[in-house]
Amino acid sequence: MQRNSYRIVSYKVKHGYDISEFLSSYRYLLQRAIDIIWDNIEWKKKRNRLIPIIPKSKDFKRTLRNQLLKDWNYASHYADSAIKTAYSILNSWRRNYIKGKRSKNKPVVKRKFVRVKETLYRFRESKIIITIKPRQFYLEFDLSKTWFRKRVEGYDLGELILKEDELIITFKKPVDNTPSKKKIAWDLNLLSMDGFCDKGWIRVDLKQLYTLHITYENLRRKIQSLSKTKPKTDKRLMQKYSKRYRNRVKDFLHKLTTKIANELKDYEHGFENLEKQGMFTKRKTHNRVISKQNWKQIIQLMSYKANIRLLNPYNSTKTCPRCGGRMKRRKGQVLECGKCRLIINRQLNASINLYLRMWGFPPSMKVWLELIEPILRRSGVTLKGDETDDLLPMNPEGVEVDVSQSGPLNP
Ligand SMILES: [Zn+2]
Repeated sequence: MQRNSYRIVSYKVKHGYDISEFLSSYRYLLQRAIDIIWDNIEWKKKRNRLIPIIPKSKDFKRTLRNQLLKDWNYASHYADSAIKTAYSILNSWRRNYIKGKRSKNKPVVKRKFVRVKETLYRFRESKIIITIKPRQFYLEFDLSKTWFRKRVEGYDLGELILKEDELIITFKKPVDNTPSKKKIAWDLNLLSMDGFCDKGWIRVDLKQLYTLHITYENLRRKIQSLSKTKPKTDKRLMQKYSKRYRNRVKDFLHKLTTKIANELKDYEHGFENLEKQGMFTKRKTHNRVISKQNWKQIIQLMSYKANIRLLNPYNSTKTCPRCGGRMKRRKGQVLECGKCRLIINRQLNASINLYLRMWGFPPSMKVWLELIEPILRRSGVTLKGDETDDLLPMNPEGVEVDVSQSGPLNP
């Protein structure tokens, strides 16, 4: 999200066109391009290794294009697409070869796919028309009936990837990169999402989501125990229920993230980087698998709907946000700092630490007094660290829920 100024999303559309011959010819064309470039690589000796220099001059590329077009029967722009793809395949091979991850063997194209450049399609009135052979062979895709049409409103069409039975469509939308003045940091848990921002502690209930998972698990076990007597019924039942379950989870998460994105407009949403988090966790319990799966989906969906940022989760649950000391576990969800004696709810503690990371402040008494404490006071959060049960309801049906209220201590 931060790397470039576009937000890119992609969707698949199934198709029934018979393009097997075209895709085979294209794969052959792409392989030819790789072969020709490969044969012209210059190998330079450096210490004990041979370093490849890939030819890139304009003259070389022009000759390459002419060679490729000799017995190519489809639109000539596909030769340019093949050249571009061949270079990206070879460049990535070269990078890995230099790192010692690949051998000195020519890459071979196995999959059948075509990158369709912008010169090879038109997009008008929600229809994509791809030229295969000018004036003879076109493919048409009507996006007005697709389920994702609403989600890509305001997006530009990007690259298309054509495969034997589907078209992958990428959309891009310019992203406002000016840093957001409002930030919210989310600590994701199995039963709740705990956010901290200028409005205070925001708690979103995920119990319903958890119940969905558990109900499905139980159902699955029950069906499996029946499977010895009626294996066919079992398979059909499983398919039916797992589809229903996936849809209900998807539906819940969609409504949840839309709600959060709308209630907290203009906010930058900070989430723990799950990739990094994996390094610090040892146990892999069932609940952990469930929550990781939830978080992944929540972060992904939020990235479509808001500005998000991934944060380093290291020690966010164990550090005192007031003095940087080490937190100790007390009863239930309560933590106490071993140094300054701050007593605080575990989830609130984690979200405040993440919030500080979003602003780039290490924990300190000064920042605590000037930034954090006024927010807590303003929003009415008292720091006894007690466990509260009155989480904000998050109805999957999505009516009358206001996640922008402050924390559970101030309903
Ligand atoms: Zn402390």
